[in-house]
Amino acid sequence: MKAWVDETKCQGHTLCAMAAGEFFVLSDEDGHASAPDQHVPPELEAKVRLAAGGCPEQAIVIEA
Ligand code: SF4
Repeated sequence: MKAWVDETKCQGHTLCAMAAGEFFVLSDEDGHASAPDQHVPPELEAKVRLAAGGCPEQAIVIEA
């Protein structure tokens, strides 16, 4: 599974990092999230899916 953040949609709510802080990294400057490694480890898949479902901007893209 792959996942990444659509930078044009992300508004920096930081909810994704609360749900899956092992995967999403927040910018120190604006709080916007990114996923440095798009490959989601199997043990983090559930958390990343939760984060995607909870993102208010639907900025997290998941590719199975
Ligand atoms: S929850 Fe969504 S909008 Fe908020 S920082 Fe994460 S990706 Fe961006």
